[in-house]
Amino acid sequence: MINRKKILMEVGDILDTYCTDCLVKQSLRKDYGKTHAQSFCISGCTVGAEIKKLGDQLVERK
Ligand code: SF4
Repeated sequence: MINRKKILMEVGDILDTYCTDCLVKQSLRKDYGKTHAQSFCISGCTVGAEIKKLGDQLVERK
């Protein structure tokens, strides 16, 4: 359970540091829409890849 909390905090930190004011996402959203921007986050950004990796760990720990 402690590890789960640690993972969630790590995800929060990454989102706060890199994603909250991300200009790439804002620009993609504006030009191509929300779905395209989300898809870039998951498959085209190393930060997104790291978040996905942590998210997968949360699912495994359920
Ligand atoms: S995952 Fe990458 S592109 Fe998406 S919001 Fe975060 S830093 Fe920006």
